[in-house]
Amino acid sequence: MSFALTWLPEVLLGAGLKVAEQPGWRDRGRAQMGKVEGVMCHFTNGPAQGNMPTLRVLIEGRSDLPGPLSQLGLGRDGTFYVIAAGKCNHAGIGEWQGITTGNTSFIGIEAENTGSEPWPDVQMDAYRRGVAAILNFAELPASRCCGHREYAKPKGRKDDPDFDMDDFRGQVDAIMAGRGVVRAIIPKRDETGRPTQRRGSVGFLVRQIQVQLGEVADGLFGPATEAAVRRYQRASDLVPDGIVGPKTWAALDRDALAARREAPSADLQTLLTIAGQSQIARYDWNNRGRAPLGYVKGVAIMFARLHARLASGDPIAKAIASKAGTPAKDALGWYADVFRSVGMVNEIDGPDTLRHVFVLLLGLGMRESSGRFCEGRDRSANNTKAETAEAGVFQTSFDLIGADPLLSTIFTAYRRMPPQLKSVFAEGVRPKPDELQNFGDGDGRDFQELCKNSPAFAVELAALGLRRQRKHWGPINTLAAEVRPEADALFRDIADAIDRNPDLRSAVLNGRSP
Ligand SMILES: [Zn+2]
Repeated sequence: MSFALTWLPEVLLGAGLKVAEQPGWRDRGRAQMGKVEGVMCHFTNGPAQGNMPTLRVLIEGRSDLPGPLSQLGLGRDGTFYVIAAGKCNHAGIGEWQGITTGNTSFIGIEAENTGSEPWPDVQMDAYRRGVAAILNFAELPASRCCGHREYAKPKGRKDDPDFDMDDFRGQVDAIMAGRGVVRAIIPKRDETGRPTQRRGSVGFLVRQIQVQLGEVADGLFGPATEAAVRRYQRASDLVPDGIVGPKTWAALDRDALAARREAPSADLQTLLTIAGQSQIARYDWNNRGRAPLGYVKGVAIMFARLHARLASGDPIAKAIASKAGTPAKDALGWYADVFRSVGMVNEIDGPDTLRHVFVLLLGLGMRESSGRFCEGRDRSANNTKAETAEAGVFQTSFDLIGADPLLSTIFTAYRRMPPQLKSVFAEGVRPKPDELQNFGDGDGRDFQELCKNSPAFAVELAALGLRRQRKHWGPINTLAAEVRPEADALFRDIADAIDRNPDLRSAVLNGRSP
């Protein structure tokens, strides 16, 4: 049988809101609701990524609390997800205006928010209008809308939502009375006449956005592009609504200009040409064949950056370029015999040792991922936790970070930047959709995404990781990662080019890197 609140979608649609009915919602509930006496506002305290990442939890519940956890979810883009028509576990013990039967009497709305991020206008506007529509339908005053934190007892048991509820009720009241303030709608075009781009947009402007954000440039503004726009907005201190309007266009323009200024393409091209024409680019790796061109080029650019940074005294570069240490921790120490057999010496700090780290790194990436920047977790293992799921060209996982505070420094720095070198690494590689999946949530999940989305991060992290915790990598432990003289020759050529040409050196240094 279906439960009583089957009117929810119609009432919300009638208020001009976006509605997504979830399969089975009419029959979902702990029991029948009592008479509706009000609406209770919550936030999910959920993950930062996505429009409504908590949806499944709201439907299914948690280990300590069976679902459904609310009748409605409210996504960051203002869509109402209709979850249940019956009673839900959202209120707990408390009181609002003499009513103590929270779950029986209040409709719960869980709005997606981490609890510490700004609320997108589009979401808050929908929140107010949705509550107003429900209260109007139930013939209740705006005072019957409460925040979970206002209802919950003992006081302080709940802190959601974090916005001013009196102000919220005032605006709900105004909407109910027909004098609501209509939200400032994102303009259809920016000052230069460029149309606002959002989910469903197609064409060359979408492609331009995708290229700049390092996404697959198919010209279709779908969920992946929207997610990339949100990430970018968050990193740029913009409201993460996933819509490219005038403010986001302006930020993208500013960054594109900065990127052009920072990495003169002619100089970068010199290095890419050296890498593309190198012997190692044609080398036939054991059981792997040739490397994707983008892999050789991308690692070469990263070597160039670290080589230039080493000369400037950069602490991360210095740590990577330090002489071989204990075999238990340091891959160079562990690989001492192999290096010796090909005449590469790692007994002193400096550029030679740095080069040899990159030689080993190049061999490691071929073993781990065949040089594919987008490689997801190892499906033959059972590493589905955020901390242990492998990601990216060197198949690193978040638990590596603890081996040195500088590894966290690298993570934090790249997290703040737009994707680095993805377009370079993408040459000759076609990502598969399931590779882009990440596991778990929080920092560990973000780490996986960053490894694949910002291959420069994966390189720098692995370069230092090799020096601190070589046991992180099976092919290092078994000496299966190849050490090739042709790779050393490539990095020598790159170093020579930079050392001979101060313009090239400063261009490399000014490329975005910590
Ligand atoms: Zn709550």
